[in-house]
Amino acid sequence: MEYLKNHINGELIEPVSGKYLDNYEPATGQVYSFVPDSDARDVERAVAAAEKAFPVWSVTPTQERARLLQHIADLITQNLNSLARAESIDTGKPVTLAKRMDIPRAASNFSFFASATIHFASESHAMEDSALNYTLRKPLGVVGCISPWNLPLYLFTWKIAPALAAGNCVIGKPSEITPMTAYLLSKLCQEAGLPPGVLNIVHGYGPKVGAAICAHPKISAISFTGGTKTGIEIARVAAPMFKKLSLELGGKNPVLVFADCDYANMLETTIRSAFTNQGEICLCGSRVFVERPLYEKFKNDFVARAKQLKVGDPLVEDTDQGAVVSQQHKAKVLSYIELAKQEGGKILCGGHDMKLSGRCKDGWFIAPTIIEGLSYDCRTNQEEIFGPVVTIMPFDSEDEVLDYANSTPYGLASILWTQNLPRAHRVSDQLKSGIVWVNCWMVHDLRTPFGGVKQSGVGREGGLEALRFFTEPKNVCVKLK
Ligand code: NDP
Repeated sequence: MEYLKNHINGELIEPVSGKYLDNYEPATGQVYSFVPDSDARDVERAVAAAEKAFPVWSVTPTQERARLLQHIADLITQNLNSLARAESIDTGKPVTLAKRMDIPRAASNFSFFASATIHFASESHAMEDSALNYTLRKPLGVVGCISPWNLPLYLFTWKIAPALAAGNCVIGKPSEITPMTAYLLSKLCQEAGLPPGVLNIVHGYGPKVGAAICAHPKISAISFTGGTKTGIEIARVAAPMFKKLSLELGGKNPVLVFADCDYANMLETTIRSAFTNQGEICLCGSRVFVERPLYEKFKNDFVARAKQLKVGDPLVEDTDQGAVVSQQHKAKVLSYIELAKQEGGKILCGGHDMKLSGRCKDGWFIAPTIIEGLSYDCRTNQEEIFGPVVTIMPFDSEDEVLDYANSTPYGLASILWTQNLPRAHRVSDQLKSGIVWVNCWMVHDLRTPFGGVKQSGVGREGGLEALRFFTEPKNVCVKLK
């Protein structure tokens, strides 16, 4: 079994402690590799390497930085199949999904920011004939990028690509639950010729490695994606140190289905938005509100369609839904199903774990679950479950569904289905979320701002927003007379 390594100063090295953590394959429930149990000493080494690399990397011509990032993107694409297989084994997600979404999007992150940084321009403000202002945008220095387990390579690269493109040196920490593709990425970065110390990857527990990154005085910004509770802890540590913070946190996203929608498209997409990646995407629609005249038909069709989803070995090509990421997470999701029952919910399908046979007999599988009969403000409908569990409920008016949709502490994404154009604009405007998808889901243009409101986060990633986050603006005012 393989022992993964940290990537520090361009080398793959053991953790200072010499200790390793078990890394599980969710589909089998077995340990299949070991991940470094790093600590503050490894972070210290990584920061020293990054500090040493920064003076050269920050003034490396933009074209050269872009060339290196594009080279990494090309290597990811060339290794699509092996990276997708590794991601599937590490997370439990279907390999077909990793091939179609996770890995191609990781490559796109590098190629997009390689190009974006070349086109990134700063502002100039002329004061008639008296003075001229222009804004310089300088890289911040050494920055920390901390990412979660659900879309490991996709979200890790979503942070490190803009950070590197803007001229920063990075200390990255993937989730210790899903470290494999970040480890493979470190090898690809070596192959691409990324200079030593520019990207350092330290594996290990959040409260050890992540906390040491957040508390390190020489790390000037933290870009974090993960749970809201962890985001609170990071802000508590980093804010008094005046670090720049970007926090992409949890969600409890509503789906608003009006009776005039394109029904077939809505039904198929709502199945995807509920159950893709076992429901472990922060953008999944987990509360579906359906206009009453359509409710019974939708309920019957939605349940019938969910029952057709094939839950199975993630490495088999026709599997629709794989294993959830860990035993602990499986227990959490099942406990929410129990809570839903106590709160008066009726399980329309699923509602239990699944025992598979053969290779996957000890894997962590949960049947796609649909629940009705709950009030919009009960705990099941207010708290993030992050699994293949979705609730459905009817509504009678636009105002009512907006109240339901906006009632949670979260505000990441909303999904709206209607063919009424004025209503689409009107409701989009009133939804309290950072992203609204109208008649679609997960369509992502990398140029758009990405992030949430309320407890779903602070700041925006994506496009120029990310390059702005990873640079410090400086205004220069020149008197003309
Ligand atoms: P966590 O918050 O548990 O972990 C995220 C990352 O933070 C991991 O690398 C984790 O390490 C690390 N971490 C944990 N504790 C600390 C700490 N004290 N200081 C610094 N870093 C720490 O999230 P999950 O991995 O469970 O991911 C699921 C969550 O992520 C969900 O809530 C989901 O909604 C959210 N998410 C949000 C997205 C968005 O764009 N808004 C996108 C995707 C997911 P370790 O794994 O070792 O604990």
